[in-house]
Amino acid sequence: MGLFDRLRGGWVYEDDADYVIVGTGAGGATAGKVLAEAGHDVLFLEEGPRLKTKDRPRDAIGALSGSMRQAATQTTAGPVPIPVLQGVCVGGSTAMNSGIIWRMPEDVREDWITNHGLASLVDEGELERIYETVEEDLEVSPTGDDVLGGNATLMRQASEKLGLPGKPMSRNAARCDGKGECLQGCPGEKRQSMDVSYVPRAMAAGARLSTLCRVEKVWIEGGRAVGVIGSKMDRHTRKPLGRFRVRARHVIVSAGVVHTPIILKRSGLGGLVGHRFQAHPGAAIVGRFAEPVRMSYGATQGYEVPMRSRGFKLESLSLPPEMLAARLPGVGAEWQERVANLDCYTQWCAQVRMEAKGRVVPGPFGPLVFYQPTARDLAKAKEALVLICRMMFEAGAVEVYPGIGGIPEVLRSPAEVDAVEAQKWSPAAIHLVASHLFGTACAGANPGRSVVGPDLQSHEVAGLYVMDASVFPTNMGVNPQHSIMAVTYRAAEQLALRGGARQAA
Ligand SMILES: Cc1cc2nc3c(=O)[nH]c(=O)nc-3n(C[C@H](O)[C@H](O)[C@H](O)COP(=O)(O)OP(=O)(O)OC[C@H]3O[C@@H](n4cnc5c(N)ncnc54)[C@H](O)[C@@H]3O)c2cc1C
Ligand code: SF4
Repeated sequence: MGLFDRLRGGWVYEDDADYVIVGTGAGGATAGKVLAEAGHDVLFLEEGPRLKTKDRPRDAIGALSGSMRQAATQTTAGPVPIPVLQGVCVGGSTAMNSGIIWRMPEDVREDWITNHGLASLVDEGELERIYETVEEDLEVSPTGDDVLGGNATLMRQASEKLGLPGKPMSRNAARCDGKGECLQGCPGEKRQSMDVSYVPRAMAAGARLSTLCRVEKVWIEGGRAVGVIGSKMDRHTRKPLGRFRVRARHVIVSAGVVHTPIILKRSGLGGLVGHRFQAHPGAAIVGRFAEPVRMSYGATQGYEVPMRSRGFKLESLSLPPEMLAARLPGVGAEWQERVANLDCYTQWCAQVRMEAKGRVVPGPFGPLVFYQPTARDLAKAKEALVLICRMMFEAGAVEVYPGIGGIPEVLRSPAEVDAVEAQKWSPAAIHLVASHLFGTACAGANPGRSVVGPDLQSHEVAGLYVMDASVFPTNMGVNPQHSIMAVTYRAAEQLALRGGARQAA
């Protein structure tokens, strides 16, 4: 009997499953695919809706409000708020990401083994095998010249002129035809986000999916997880319609770095839950060129300059036209002239591997994320943004718009970049945004220094697993989705082996 077919004893809905998975993003969808294909009974509970690609709004505001948590307005709490972007729909944050794929850098893997006791989770041979499988499943390949587009091509020219280690990005979008709409959901489903890849694959293997189900807590009896409890949400108002509970032999929480710790805390877990929040906050700079760049044509993101030894990575990043217009400086006729030439801009961003660690705690109206970059973090961000300005002039920009508080809105020469670099930037000057999030339920062998073990099972509650980016004990300095999929793939395979055969209904 299905979740919403029953009305019983005070609960609006009830159901049961061998494995209940909370969330369908990079971690949850991967775990579900592995377990379902191993023959297990899997039920996904997803807070957001299942968005059909053809019905997703093409305008930026419609796209953000339909698929992202609080329409992308949630920020960190603190003196300098930083927007924290997360998807809330089937596919989670993969449903609107740019498909950039990076394997876990070797120094990160070694650190996790040496300092966190995670040798079995990140075993070199096992990860290699899993990366190859995922890369084949998700059609990973380098962005071809035919879809690089003007924005990425100019970045390549600048990188080559300055001798930087740039390259076309690897993406899970081998059939990308350069429509530049990853944020709105790829129109032709070329990009293999979880909603068009691992969730359907899990369902083809028998997994069930219940959307608009917000899990509030894990149901625990005698120190063991036996299910989850939550509220069914109204599709339009997103207000609760009634409470549900689902019994399960194993509970996998994959609600993402901000919401996983809230569910765990509500379930009575303590220790380091919510601690060690980390991120790669970033900022972007716009440049104007004399000739059309045609930012809207080509892969949303196509070219990157990894500068891991400096602690940052530069990326080309196209924007929908209405968001680009909002980034242009000036007022009145000056602004109108710039908007009239909307075809002539590039935008490149920096993602910074920050050392700051924050905390996620429950607040009166939702999670609060306390996080403040350190002075060293801001110095790295400044170095990255100054380099972008230099690269833009190297590529032939006529104007560069740093968008940084307290420094000129428009730069017209490399000498002006030198002057800006010499200036002191206030801590609030850089408008950071964070979409790569880590920590809050970190994995480790030592229960005193972690929330889950190397098998991603809770140290406190048997049968409770966490499989998403919150188990990462550190950030990485590269785009995370591939590594999130790889470590959850590995843990789910081990769980599938231990979990036994499918239970009779
Ligand atoms: C705009 C954007 C662009 C990005 N670009 C890239 C990129 O190109 N490459 C890359 O590697 N990474 C990228 N990232 C980051 C990457 O997408 C995330 O790191 C990754 O998806 C995180 O996986 P996750 O499983 O931890 O969480 P998510 O993918 O965020 O999934 C969490 C899921 O849990 C659900 N959920 C939350 N709370 C509940 C609850 N209480 N009950 C039920 N369900 C719940 C959510 O709705 C969501 O579906 C990007 C992120 C964003 C936002
Ligand atoms: S750039 Fe366009 S075609 Fe390519 S993956 Fe993104 S949305 Fe799809």
